[in-house]
Amino acid sequence: MNPIDARYSNTSSDHNRLLLLALTEAWGSKCYWCRTPKLFRELQIDHIVPRRPREAATTVFDLDAVENLAPICGPCNQEKANEVYQHAPRVESQLKRARSRAETVQRNLDRFRRDTHITKVLLAITAADVADEAAAGAIKALGRVVLNVLRSRFPDLLDASYVEDYTTHHPPIEYEGRTYQRTDGVSVVELDGRSRRVAVVLEDVFGLSLRYALDTVREEVRGDIDGCADVITTTSTYA
Ligand SMILES: [Zn+2]
Repeated sequence: MNPIDARYSNTSSDHNRLLLLALTEAWGSKCYWCRTPKLFRELQIDHIVPRRPREAATTVFDLDAVENLAPICGPCNQEKANEVYQHAPRVESQLKRARSRAETVQRNLDRFRRDTHITKVLLAITAADVADEAAAGAIKALGRVVLNVLRSRFPDLLDASYVEDYTTHHPPIEYEGRTYQRTDGVSVVELDGRSRRVAVVLEDVFGLSLRYALDTVREEVRGDIDGCADVITTTSTYA
């Protein structure tokens, strides 16, 4: 097998990391199952039709082929593993989505192969196993240097506009027979150049989600719900 083929490898975790990167790009950095935006490190390669023989008995195609692969988050992988029969129609529609992206995934891998030395280094850093302490240490040490080079040589790369909708939606709260709906925590964030680099370091080097950081700050500022009448609206007082 060509080591850069868009196909799951049973022997090379390095190949699978690059493959996951190609899949993640092709699927818009989202978990294909819950369609939530995820960091690269939160995603794994999923076999849409599972490889376990009992479910796979009737399939006639190559389970390791890219047409059966997609990026999935940990919780969804767990849920899917537990309830695969219940999701059968959903699996069918996901296979269609995977087929429509197969060419893009292969194109991404071809691009990785053609890329120059420095890009290969950056790709290797992106795909590195940061759970490994030595790797994480090396990346943190490199991060500052790499960002400085990017800032001086390719300012446009980090200065591109970056607007993110970090709005949070709260579930309704039942209290003494009434339902309260907290209004959405609206925070559309436009980052300046410096903050974009901070976001890159936070999310890509240290693995901290900017969304989580903002939520934490918002909760700190609001205090407890009793003191925040302005964020509570009654939704079922006439019931
Ligand atoms: Zn998910």
